[in-house]
This record gives sequence, C-alpha cells and structure tokens, in this order.
Amino acid sequence: MYIRHGSQTDQGRIRTSNEDSFIVNGRSKLFLVADGMGGHAAGEVASHIASTTVEELLTAPGDSQGDPAETLRLAAQSANAGIYEAQRENPEYLGMGSTLTALIFRSAQYYIAHVGDSRAYLLRDGTLDQLTRDHSVVWHLYESGVLRKEDLSRHPQKNLIIRSIGPHPQVEIDIESGEARERDVFLLCSDGLTDVLPDEAIRRVLSDGDKTPQELADTLVDAANMGGGPDNVTVVVVRLEPGAAQEQTP
Ligand code: CA
Repeated sequence: MYIRHGSQTDQGRIRTSNEDSFIVNGRSKLFLVADGMGGHAAGEVASHIASTTVEELLTAPGDSQGDPAETLRLAAQSANAGIYEAQRENPEYLGMGSTLTALIFRSAQYYIAHVGDSRAYLLRDGTLDQLTRDHSVVWHLYESGVLRKEDLSRHPQKNLIIRSIGPHPQVEIDIESGEARERDVFLLCSDGLTDVLPDEAIRRVLSDGDKTPQELADTLVDAANMGGGPDNVTVVVVRLEPGAAQEQTP
C-alpha cells in the first residue's frame, strides 16, 4: 500500500484573495488544510502560521517516536499558540484565527487533528463518511435534529464558527483515528467546497478510480467554481493505492 495525493486551491469567483493554506508532505505522510479568517490579510497570516507550525513539528527529527495522536495534538496546540502570540504582538492581527484539519498516517492507522469547519472525509467501499464534526453554529443545529445536513450550506449563519485556532491561549482539539485500508480515499477541504457541493456530489467525484488524486482535486475545485465559487476553495485528496510504494513528488 502506498500514498498517492493531489491538491488544488483557488480563491474562487468572488473573493480577491485566498486565505486558505494547505500542506501535502508525502514523505512525512502529513496532509492538512487551514482556512484563515480576520481582516487586512490576517486570515492569510493565520492559516499560514497554522500550516507551517504543524508541518515543522510533524517533520522534526524524532516525530516517529511516541503516540501519533499526542504528537498531532501538540502540533495543533503549538499552531494555536503561534497565532495567538502573533496577534498579541500586532494589533492589525487582532481576532484572527484559522481552521485546522490535519491528517497523518502512522503504522497503517490514520490520525486527524481538527478544529473549525473545514472537513475530513473518507470514501471507503463506495460510502462517503465525514470523519470530523464542524465546530459551527449550524452543525449544532444539525446534530440536535433542527436542520438537515443538506440545509446547512443555505443557512444564514453557516459561517459562524464556534471554535478555531488562534483567538484564545488554549483550544480544544478533536482527534479522530482509525485503520487505514487499501483503496481508501481521504479528502480534506475548506468550506468553499462543501458550501457548494453536497456530500453525494463529492462522493461521485471521488469514486472515479480512473482519475488520479490530482485530477480528482482539480475536478472538485472546478465544480465549486462552476457552482458560483463564493469562497476560497482548497482540497487535498489522498488515495491509498494497492501495491509497492512508488515515489511521488513533492
Ligand atoms: Ca472559507
């Protein structure tokens, strides 16, 4: 089994800048999406700090020792501290924050650290499951049975996030983990994708085994833009291919 990945980001059709960041690091088996928020370019700064901090810590020598879930949690907590400190030092950055959805593979298991309303999905045996819970007002309404999932993207408060990386000195980080299997397809994405494409449309795209992960990523971003492109959109697609490891760059 080996990892094949693809990624794409676009500012969309409305926004004039892209505040999303992402990392694909095949060597360290680290993939992440971060969606920044805050005025005056602060969103870009926040998502950049989030992604680079996690990458630095996950690729540091010695990362392979210890509990992967704990390593991931500490990296996400450091990202939180980095953004929090940056806005204490620079008033222009006050209130900035970022989502963070980071995925690593260690010993045939996957581990996800997650805060905010970006998402991780897993397509396995034709079924698409959302592995993360959105930390948003509307997700709360969905879980309490008030809203259907397909109505979340139309709700006026759909962008209200109740937990993000950066605004506070500490943050609670969700950790998900499970067995990684051959032919699994993982998707990390910002809400610029899921506000436009329902889960079933995403499932159909990801189910195309003839396309490379890069082609799948391109297709998803194109679909978000064809659906109006209301927001920055970022997708990372990771497929666990059967057979011997092959090199993919980067
Ligand atoms: Ca967004």
